[in-house]
Amino acid sequence: MSVKYPFANLATVNEPLMPQLIEAASSVIRSGRYIGGPEVDTLEQNMASLCSTSHAVGVSNGLDALRLILEAMIELGRLQSGDGVIVPANTYIASVLAITHAGLTPVLVDPDVNTMNLSAAGLQDGIAQGAKAVMTVHLYGRVAWDEEMERLAQEAGLQVVEDAAQAIGAIGIIGSTPRPTGAIGHAAGFSFYPTKNVGALGDAGCVTTNDAALADTVRALANYGSDRRYHNLYAGHNCRLDPIQAAMLNVKLPHTAEANARRFERAVAYNNTIVNPAVILPAMPSSPTECVWHQYVVRVPGHRDEFRQYLTAHGVETDIHYPIPPHLQPCYMALPHSPLPVAEQLATEVVSLPITDCTSVSDAVEIAKIINRYDPTK
Ligand SMILES: *Cc1c(COP(=O)(O)O)cnc(C)c1O
Repeated sequence: MSVKYPFANLATVNEPLMPQLIEAASSVIRSGRYIGGPEVDTLEQNMASLCSTSHAVGVSNGLDALRLILEAMIELGRLQSGDGVIVPANTYIASVLAITHAGLTPVLVDPDVNTMNLSAAGLQDGIAQGAKAVMTVHLYGRVAWDEEMERLAQEAGLQVVEDAAQAIGAIGIIGSTPRPTGAIGHAAGFSFYPTKNVGALGDAGCVTTNDAALADTVRALANYGSDRRYHNLYAGHNCRLDPIQAAMLNVKLPHTAEANARRFERAVAYNNTIVNPAVILPAMPSSPTECVWHQYVVRVPGHRDEFRQYLTAHGVETDIHYPIPPHLQPCYMALPHSPLPVAEQLATEVVSLPITDCTSVSDAVEIAKIINRYDPTK
């Protein structure tokens, strides 16, 4: 059968904003200013306001955002080269790459099997291994931080970095105070990779923080380590955000909450309609904005590949996030780690269903009904 329910098509996702995107791109092209400038300043103001932080620094992509935060923490003496950074073992490889590129040591810990996120238990495990920082990953759009984790991190004096690449606009309930992603840790890295909830039309990223010194250091490191023109305080990089991408993002960012709300509606439709004992549904968060459903991920223990083949045969495209955890990738074969049974189990069970604007709520209901007719014994 041909594809009836595509996983995603970015041209379709961007279609409603096409005239504004084209106008914004034209304006940058006509301006003659192609590095930095007002579009980047505006994007930074928009991100600081969205995340309720005092600072935002536009950068080249999400991986660079995370690496620059860690490198800035080293430059400021808050971390030492080689220090351990706790990171959930089922994350996308970029989280781990940022840690090793910064000269730090990943301390891989197992996630909670139900939230598929870092938990207090995982955090404790990493603290016991002597880690000095944590990179919590709001995987699939779900906030991975709570009051207990905050207390543990404070007691251990950890630097807290958020990998917020998948969770723009999510709001954590930490204690009684709602806190948007980007304002949960000491600093957060965002990605605007085109498939993210707010996607640029190419690579782009951002760092948010309430720490002025950290923001300044990230900004300098991203610009050859230069704190002022032709003066290099650090041996930095070229990791700047392009103004043409900032212009695209300034069109898209004001629509973040409504775009996330549409993802939530589809997630609710799936959760309310799928009733197949072979399929484990993602837990609904206690508050609707605590998860922005970057992916809608079900688990199909023992039958994942047959389940995907069945859906393909019924015109439903799916994906896997992620089939091989970082510690089992060829590049990290030599990376020491404790046993990670949950991360390895999840990699064999997870399936992502369509959740973008290419899928209407009624499509989600139809996909759910197709799933309900799946029989793993056939
Ligand atoms: C996408 C992603 C990144 C990396 O972002 P890029 O902009 O692609 O470099 C990092 N962490 C997670 C969890 C991601 O999903």
